[in-house]
Amino acid sequence: MEIKEAKFLMSNTKVELCPAPDKPEYAFIGRSNVGKSSLINMLTGQKGLAKTSSSPGKTQLINHFLVDNSWYLVDLPGYGYAKVSKESREKWRRMINYYFQKRENLTCVFVLIDSRHEPLQPDLDFIDYLGNMGVPFVIVFTKLDKQSAAKTDANIAAYEAKLRETWDELPPIFKTSAEKRIGKDEILAYIDEINEK
Ligand code: GDP
Repeated sequence: MEIKEAKFLMSNTKVELCPAPDKPEYAFIGRSNVGKSSLINMLTGQKGLAKTSSSPGKTQLINHFLVDNSWYLVDLPGYGYAKVSKESREKWRRMINYYFQKRENLTCVFVLIDSRHEPLQPDLDFIDYLGNMGVPFVIVFTKLDKQSAAKTDANIAAYEAKLRETWDELPPIFKTSAEKRIGKDEILAYIDEINEK
């Protein structure tokens, strides 16, 4: 599947004000700077669609995009900003928690993880949180082009080993590079497959 049209609909802090839950929804989230905007822009084929974050953590908004008039793509505010106050961290936690609990059309969450790193606690914590909530999710490793394939595979294997300490079943994993346009077809095919069920 190629995306023909993706348009920005709205930014919100309130789940109640999000678009009517009348289409399947796919949400993207990850630590600051993980490459979320770049990935969304690669998937939609629109360079400036998701704004690359110039002031990390400042605006914590739920951003809705309508794709091909048939599903919602949601850009969620990230976690793990170093310079964020306790208060705004708590605000983020409440908003995100509410979104995952209440957004009835949420179909799958794409959790982005920077493939350059060995397992990081904020990512592991977030995955555990989603797993415990029973939210369907997949893991997307970003920035593959930044290191050798061997290093990427070692980091992914380390994440898998960590997750196996807690979970019997691992989520689907995608390997991507917005720079080299890797992983686009696989992610869009995955979304397509779910939408056609
Ligand atoms: P966000 O804060 O998660 O939305 O991340 P951005 O998409 O703004 O990306 C953060 C930084 O990583 C920017 O400087 C991007 O150019 C860079 N970046 C994002 N994806 C890739 C990638 O696949 N490869 C490389 N080499 N750099 C990337």
